[in-house]
Amino acid sequence: MQDIERKDKTYVWHPFTQMQDWVENKQLVIAAGDGIKLIDIDGKAYYDGVSSLWLNVHGHRKAAIDQAIIDQLGKIAHTTMLGLANIPAAELAEQLVKIAPPGLTRVFYSDSGSTAVEIAVKMAYQYWQLKGQTQKKKFITLTNAYHGDTVGSVSVGGIDLFHRIFAPLLFETVHAPSPSCFHCTLGDSPAACGFACVVAVEKLLADHHGEIAAMVVEPLVQGAAGMLVQPPGYLRRVRELTQRYGVLLIVDEVATGFGRTGRMFACEHEGVSPDLMTMAKGITGGYLPLAATLTTDEIYNAFLGPVEAQKTFFHGHSYTGNPLACAAALANLRIFRDEQVIENLGPKIEAARRKLAAFWQLAAVADIRQCGLMIGIELMQDKATKQPYPPAWRMGHRVCMKTREYGLIIRPLGDVVVFMPPLASTVEEIEEMLDIIYRAIAEVT
Ligand code: PLP
Repeated sequence: MQDIERKDKTYVWHPFTQMQDWVENKQLVIAAGDGIKLIDIDGKAYYDGVSSLWLNVHGHRKAAIDQAIIDQLGKIAHTTMLGLANIPAAELAEQLVKIAPPGLTRVFYSDSGSTAVEIAVKMAYQYWQLKGQTQKKKFITLTNAYHGDTVGSVSVGGIDLFHRIFAPLLFETVHAPSPSCFHCTLGDSPAACGFACVVAVEKLLADHHGEIAAMVVEPLVQGAAGMLVQPPGYLRRVRELTQRYGVLLIVDEVATGFGRTGRMFACEHEGVSPDLMTMAKGITGGYLPLAATLTTDEIYNAFLGPVEAQKTFFHGHSYTGNPLACAAALANLRIFRDEQVIENLGPKIEAARRKLAAFWQLAAVADIRQCGLMIGIELMQDKATKQPYPPAWRMGHRVCMKTREYGLIIRPLGDVVVFMPPLASTVEEIEEMLDIIYRAIAEVT
C-alpha cells in the first residue's frame, strides 16, 4: 500500500461508504485527470464512466475552464455576497436566466445540489407564508426520490435505505407513487393503466392542495433511485395539475441539467417551466462546488418590502456565489455554445442505444433505462419473475469492480449499473466503455 492510501485509510471518512469495507480493501487514489480519463497514483488510466459522480461534462483539464479559473484567481478567489456583489456571479446569473425555461428570472446561489433543494423548499414555504396562505406547509414528493442529504432535502426524499434512520429529524411529506413503469405496481404502461401515477397525483392534490406548498420532482429520470425513467408526458401532466390546484412545482435538475438528457434541461423535453428549479453538478462542468435555485418574478416579488417588514429570505452560505466557481460556470456555458455540445449529442445517444440493445441477451439484464446519456442497467437473479439478487451478493458492486480491471470506473446504485459518461466522450469511446460493461456483466453474473 502506498503511503497516500494509508493516510486516506487512517484519516478520511468517505461519503456513502462503509468504512470497514473501505479500509479492508485495496482502493484507487486518483492523482490526475486527462480528458475523459482519470489517472491513479500508479499511472494507470481509467475512463471516467460516471463523470466523477455525474458532474464532469467536457472532460478533465479542459483548457478553457482551467484558464477561466486562473484568470479569476488573478483577480479574487472569494468575496461574500452578503452585502456585496461580484462580477462573475452577476454575469452568470444573467446567462443562467437566458438558458433556463421561460419565466425563471431570479438566481439564488449555493454550493451543492442538496443546498439548492433546501433553498427551493424554504422559498416555497416562505412564499405561502408571505401570501397569507399559512396553512400551505406540506410538500408532495415521489417515492424513491433523491434530492440530497441535508435535513430539508432528505425530508423531500424517499429512498428508504438513506432516509429511514433520520426519520425523527425530518418534516412530514405526502408521497406520490414513483412514475417508473418497470417497478410500478399500478400498471404496465400509461396506455394500459390510464396514467395511474398521474391520477394518484391528482387525487393527492384534490384532497390536500389547501395544505400543500409545493410538489418536488426530478424531471424525466429519478436518478439515484436507479435511473428510473418516467413515461413521456408525466412531467407535463404534473405541471398542469400543480397549476390547476395552486401548488408550486419544484423541478430538481441537479442530475439532469446541463445536457445530460440530450437537452440543456430535462424540462425542455416536456415544454415545462416550473416555479422553482434547482441546478448543480454540471453547472461548473464538474470543476468546483456551485449550485443555483432559480425562481419566478411572482415568487421573488412576494419577498419584497421594507427591511422592517421582515419579508427577507434569511438564508445564505459563506461561499454563496463564489467568484471562482462562477467563473468556471461561465466558461462551461461558453463551451456549450462554442462547441455546440447539445447539438452534437444525438449520435452519441444513438450509439449508446444501439450498443445497449445487445445487453438484453445477457441473462442477468432485467431492464435497460436510457434518457440521453443517463443510463441504468438493472441486474436481477431471475428477470422473468423480477427476482432480485440477494443484497449480500453485491452484484452491481462486483460488476463495477470488474470494469476497473478493464480500465473503466463506474459506480452502481444497488444492482443498477450506472453509466453516465462525460458529454465530451466520442461515439467510439462510448462504444468502448459499453463493451467493457457488457464484458464485465457477462463475466460476473
Ligand atoms: N438532487 C438530485 C436529483 C441529485 O441527483 C443529487 C445528487 O445526486 C442531489 C440533489 C444532491 O446533490 P449534491 O450531492 O450536490 O448535494
